[in-house]
Amino acid sequence: MQHRVFQKSKKLEGIFYDIRGPVVAEAQRLEQEGYNIIRLNTGNPPRFGVDAPDEIIHDVAYNLREAQGYTHEKGVFSARKAVMQYYQLKGIQDISIDDIYIGNGVSELILLSLQALLDSGDEVLVPIPDYPLWTGAVTLSGGKAIHYICDEEANWYPDLADIRKKITPRTKGIVVINPNNPTGSVYPREILEEIIKIAVEHKLIIFSDEIYEKIVYEDAKAYCIASMTDETLVLTYNGLSKSHRIPGFRVGWLLLSGKKEWATDYIEGLNLVASMRLCSNVPAQYAIQTALGGYQSIDDLVRPGGRLREQRDYSYQLLNDIPGITCVKPMGALYLFPKVDVKRFNIKDDMKLVYDILRTKHILLVQGTGFNWPKPDHFRFVFLPDIKELEEVAGRLKDFFETYKQE
Ligand code: PLP
Repeated sequence: MQHRVFQKSKKLEGIFYDIRGPVVAEAQRLEQEGYNIIRLNTGNPPRFGVDAPDEIIHDVAYNLREAQGYTHEKGVFSARKAVMQYYQLKGIQDISIDDIYIGNGVSELILLSLQALLDSGDEVLVPIPDYPLWTGAVTLSGGKAIHYICDEEANWYPDLADIRKKITPRTKGIVVINPNNPTGSVYPREILEEIIKIAVEHKLIIFSDEIYEKIVYEDAKAYCIASMTDETLVLTYNGLSKSHRIPGFRVGWLLLSGKKEWATDYIEGLNLVASMRLCSNVPAQYAIQTALGGYQSIDDLVRPGGRLREQRDYSYQLLNDIPGITCVKPMGALYLFPKVDVKRFNIKDDMKLVYDILRTKHILLVQGTGFNWPKPDHFRFVFLPDIKELEEVAGRLKDFFETYKQE
């Protein structure tokens, strides 16, 4: 009998998510052969022993019995109320618990909010390098991601002129990821004010991904855009995956603020797609109130002497010490996005670069083009391993780049 061929949907054309892509499959294959791979591909804190606060685990376990049933599609009352108060304390007025959606991580809320909004050909401005879910989710939702440049020479801040240049009558909104993945950049207030000005002028929605809000170093401050304007519609995304180190619990939230009256129809659509997935994982919703109101143990990790701060400092130094590699100091998040001298190493293909590092040095990195960066001259480095493991990484990478020449 002739067999039938099932092909993937054309909707997926051009979409990739290489943080879990083919190089990771190769790492898995090597692990199955018995090699110990140092995985620097995902921002997954518990994997490196950067664990959740005990009170969070306790709270979820304690409420497990209560969490058996479906909840309201936007989430349980206590969680949404806690989120509402969190933002009210930041000075955001005119919000109610109706403006808050709890989701299975920020990831799900990004997908829901774009699916409910975009029609074929609608454009959304997305930074590059980007967290690739944003570009993928815009495309999957039928829209077109228009990339604006973040400038390495200027601490990876968004290039405002480039943003202005790329606005068209089809532009619906602009994505801001601050603190940024993969660059670690934390934007000054003035840059955000300029982005707001542009958004207000062109009546664009601001999609503000603030999942690394609490992971900032030295005197960097992560400003919440929604607290800076009510003159346009702002969607703020945040969650507990990073600040409270529970990415496996899948819990995040979305807040609508500002010009909600422009969006009655969009909100109807958003409510519909939220209800189609019934509700988000209920046990994890019980972590929110405790997480927001409890002891902020993340502060201990990012201050001088804290684990994340020390690992950032060490990693920044280790990469800059390798001849042919330069790196902007990250002021937030869990990543570095170093530049590789392509001439020196004859690099034409950054995917091959990360394959070569993986196969010869057993370190798993993600190539810069996996973040929609247009040139093969970057990779992303996750600085979650402890110093002892980072010392091992330093030795192996130094060795690798001493002799590397791409054929
Ligand atoms: N946004 C950014 C910028 C991220 O880096 C990540 C995860 O790494 C997410 C969103 C997704 O987070 P969540 O675990 O809440 O789905």
